[in-house]
Amino acid sequence: TFRALLVTRDEDKKQSVAVAEMTEDDLMEGDVTVAVEATTVNYKDGLAITGMAPVVRRFPLVPGIDFAGTVVKSSHVDWREGDQVILNGWGVGETHHGAYAGLARVKGDWLVKLPPQITPFEAMAIGTAGYTAMLCVMALERHGIAPERGPVIVTGAAGGVGSIAIAILSRLGFHVVASTGRTSEEDYLRDLGAAEVIARDELSGPARPLGRERWAGGVDAVGSHTLANVLSMTSYGGAVAACGLAGGMDLPASVAPFILRGVSLLGIDSVMAPLSLRREAWGRLARDLDRAKLASLSTTIGFGGIVDAAHAIVEGRIRGRVVVDMAK
Ligand code: NAP
Repeated sequence: TFRALLVTRDEDKKQSVAVAEMTEDDLMEGDVTVAVEATTVNYKDGLAITGMAPVVRRFPLVPGIDFAGTVVKSSHVDWREGDQVILNGWGVGETHHGAYAGLARVKGDWLVKLPPQITPFEAMAIGTAGYTAMLCVMALERHGIAPERGPVIVTGAAGGVGSIAIAILSRLGFHVVASTGRTSEEDYLRDLGAAEVIARDELSGPARPLGRERWAGGVDAVGSHTLANVLSMTSYGGAVAACGLAGGMDLPASVAPFILRGVSLLGIDSVMAPLSLRREAWGRLARDLDRAKLASLSTTIGFGGIVDAAHAIVEGRIRGRVVVDMAK
């Protein structure tokens, strides 16, 4: 047997979470079984465990959308016992038993090989948040956003996506403007590579159709008024990669930035992203992300700390990234 976190629902559809003992027979369908060595707590995991949003859509379910570990059994052509792998998304931790368990059984088609330069713990310090930050940067690059075009803004800067986006963009030579509600974290953000730190309030009020052109592009993890303001202040021909909703699911914006400045809004999804894009993103993260910065933005907890971390992240109290060491 192995221990797992299990989300259940009662007759009144009230959700709760508890530690349970499971056996391999309890796992769902899949052709690869992985011993989970490390996982993490993303914003989405926080929503799943607290029940604040309907992330879990099948009960009972083991939550956890990300893991890194070693293959213990496989009938998939690409994977053999002993292979080190990463999993992000694909509905794992939503409709398929997820990461917060000693073992996970998934489809081999969902897995990415752990790049040889990084450990399972570093992979989870990156996690879906960091891999999504990389997808955002790749989308900006495809749109031709380069350091010569001007500054870039990162919103939700002290969070997981934000922290890693800052580290990547500054390494690529961008002048990064970090927007945060925690200005007390200014030193942390500057150490990650932010050139300027602005208060979240500057971007959280209702947006004007067009504002002063302040940046060539950005990575937005917040949505709502913040994204509307970011768009209205994006310079001619710029682009903004939108990946998050930490500030709200709505988008109270006007079309002015699109039709008067040719600004583009680039949608980023990590959950169903094709394998080719994942491999490219993980390859670049393994090569281009400063290992010391990655260590500085992550905190390690044990299995017993997952539920507390889930509450903390939805309350905006987590800085950077949380790694879960499953042996602890
Ligand atoms: P996180 O660590 O909690 O970061 C979110 C950050 O947003 C917080 O640290 C905070 O940064 C800011 N924030 C929180 N509440 C806010 C509010 N009410 N108004 C304005 N800013 C607020 O979460 P994460 O794991 O990085 O994820 C960030 C977002 O991206 C989430 O919405 C998540 O669901 C989404 N996401 C999407 C994908 C995808 O595939 N599209 C993948 C990963 C994540 P400051 O304290 O610095 O202001």
